[in-house]
Amino acid sequence: MSEQKALWGIDLGGTKIEGVILKSKDNPEVLLRKRIETEADKGYEHITDRIKLLVSQMAEEIGFQPKSIWIGTPGSTDPESGLLKNSNSTNLNHKPLHKDLEKLLKIPVFMANDANCFAVAETQMGVIKDQFPKVEVVFGVIMGSGVGGGLVINGKVWNGKHGIAGEWGHIFLDADGEDCYCGKHGCVETILAGKALERYYKKISGKDKKLKDIMADKSDDEFAQKAYERLIHFLGKGLSVIINVIDPDVIIIGGGVGNIPHLYDEGVESVKQFTFNPDMKTPIVKPKLGDSAGVFGAAFLNS
Ligand SMILES: [Zn+2]
Repeated sequence: MSEQKALWGIDLGGTKIEGVILKSKDNPEVLLRKRIETEADKGYEHITDRIKLLVSQMAEEIGFQPKSIWIGTPGSTDPESGLLKNSNSTNLNHKPLHKDLEKLLKIPVFMANDANCFAVAETQMGVIKDQFPKVEVVFGVIMGSGVGGGLVINGKVWNGKHGIAGEWGHIFLDADGEDCYCGKHGCVETILAGKALERYYKKISGKDKKLKDIMADKSDDEFAQKAYERLIHFLGKGLSVIINVIDPDVIIIGGGVGNIPHLYDEGVESVKQFTFNPDMKTPIVKPKLGDSAGVFGAAFLNS
């Protein structure tokens, strides 16, 4: 086994930190996978210590040290200041996470937005590799507790001038949306994130219900039906913007909201209504790698 070729990736999430070691770029077999709790409520320094702990546990188990590591995070690192920004794990924002981790881990560290990790993993190892191996431009969206997006061109992440390319979650979608942690109002994330959908349901019905149950109950619950119709309407409106501006070859929808089956028939019909081209042919597909995409993408960026 070649230590030199092994790819190390970490996915830093709000609740868990996951690490993976893949054998090589050409043979991305999983050699080791490990996850620990983030314990994000204990603050920024605790989070960086947890990452260090995970990397040292992985090194001990596999028997060698990483040469370098990619870390997928919510939010993105500003290319000029080096500070993390736009993270919905807000205690990471305005912190030099990249620099601090290099100091702690004593190896080159590279940072990637979690939605970019998702998009590159699905392109290199997931649904795009399986079903659309020849496409050039892939847009991956994550609709989970937050909403993010990543743009992959010819297999590589496109970061953009400010490191925010693909940040679909924070384009303005509707004035009826809520105030967003990013400081703006009515962002896609405030309408289409799983939590935002649950808050909307509560607002109109007065009841707490999990997204899964809202979707399951929509034939007997008029409020659930209304929340569903609103989701389909705004999914169409939101995704049409991506198609009108970038016109990708494929769109992948990840995250918990992406598991709602009707996104792929009624949702697609809604996208057609709002897209500039009346004959919208863009395949809108489910990911293959599930929860693993983030960590695999981070490892794959290491190649
Ligand atoms: Zn926002």
